[in-house]
Parts: sequence; C-alpha cells; structure tokens
Amino acid sequence: MDFIRSVENFVFGAECLGCGRASESLDPWLCPDCVSELERASKVSLFPGPDVYSLYPMRPITRRLVHALKYKSVPGMATYLVQHSSARKNGAVGSELSLLPKPLYFVPVPLHRARFRERGYNQAEKIAAALAVCVGGRVCKWLRRKTFVVSQTKLSKEARERNVADAFECALPKEVPVRGTVIVVDDVFTTGATTGACLAALENAIGRGFPGVNGPVLKVCSLLYDEPASAVADYAADCQMDWDL
Ligand SMILES: [Zn+2]
Repeated sequence: MDFIRSVENFVFGAECLGCGRASESLDPWLCPDCVSELERASKVSLFPGPDVYSLYPMRPITRRLVHALKYKSVPGMATYLVQHSSARKNGAVGSELSLLPKPLYFVPVPLHRARFRERGYNQAEKIAAALAVCVGGRVCKWLRRKTFVVSQTKLSKEARERNVADAFECALPKEVPVRGTVIVVDDVFTTGATTGACLAALENAIGRGFPGVNGPVLKVCSLLYDEPASAVADYAADCQMDWDL
C-alpha cells in the first residue's frame, strides 16, 4: 500500500492534512485552500476566560490538524499551527502575550507516562516550545501527573473536575520564580478543568498570596478552544474520521 501511495503521490501530489485531497502544492501539509481556511480561523479572537488565551476555534480544519498532531505522529504540526495563529506578532493573542510581565514561563500540561510511550512526545510540550520561540520565553516542565486520568473528552463537566482536581503535582526548580508570567499550555481548552488543576498545583507550590506583588502572574494558553457542549460531538467525529487514520 505504501508503494501504491508513493506512486499516487508522485502522480497526483501528496494528501493535504486539512482536506485529504491530493495536491502538488502542499506547504508541506496543507493545500493553498486549507491554508486560507486556517488563516481565517486564526483571526477569530478567543479569550474563553479572563486569564485564558486560545489560538483557534474548533473548526473541521483545526480539529483535523490537532488530530494529526496528537494521533498521526506529526509533532511538527504544533509549530506550524502556532506560526499561523494569532500568537504571531501583531496577532490578537501575540499582542496580549507581549503585554504580560516578563519572563514568560511556558509550562506544558504533562502527558501520562503510558500515553507518552505510545505517542513518543507530549503535544503540549511541542506547543509550549513553539510559543516560546514565537513570543519569547522558555519551556518549563514543572508539572507531573500523579494519577491515571481517563480520557477527558467523554466525561461530563462535573466528572472531569473530580477526575483531574488532584491529578497534578508541581516540581519547581530550586529558585522559585518570583516575577514574570507562568503560562500553562494545553492542546484543547474545553471546561478548563485540566488547566485549572494545573494552576492550583502551581499556586500551592509557589505559595500563598499568589498571584500578587511577590509572585508571577498565572495564565493559560491552548491551541484550540472547544465549546463544552460540542466537545463530546467533536470526540465522536474524531473517532469516525475515515480518511487515512
Ligand atoms: Zn486541503
């Protein structure tokens, strides 16, 4: 099959990860139509909460690309998506991030060990690294998962909150940051249960009176924002995508 695919790719061009159609002008993953669609999606300003930034809304194209990042071994998609997003200079999120107290510490939501072994990388780390390059800052792996957490997408809001409330612990460096901004980075923000638990763990570790004069500011940045009501439907759609899984 690989051979047939190679021949097809040679004749018709490789498949676009956005629409699944063969194209001779991929960049290297999207055809020109999908690039335009992605750029349109990146213009939607998303601030799901006062301290939360999301780079894209959940659309068929963004869902497919994040699916590729998580399940199709395309870790480079994190950089691609960040570079095309409003985190760029003069973009809505880029402008917001530039106003935050420096330095910026990008803290990825950790992946459970079993999933890390299966996937080979943590997509949140890839997103954090891309953000650090894009807006300036560094990646800090300050969080660890304490317990196994079942797939969040299938649970109700209440069940999610119970499930993840105590799921993370914090491993800060010897020199605890006393200024700047700590930004928890995740792939998809839905109810905020996961990132909320991460923020709570960081807050506990850094100390009381935080955020305040003597502590860094806390924020969250996700690649995608998915309305809680549609997250279950999105999960079902992910499972049913029949092209090239
Ligand atoms: Zn396409």
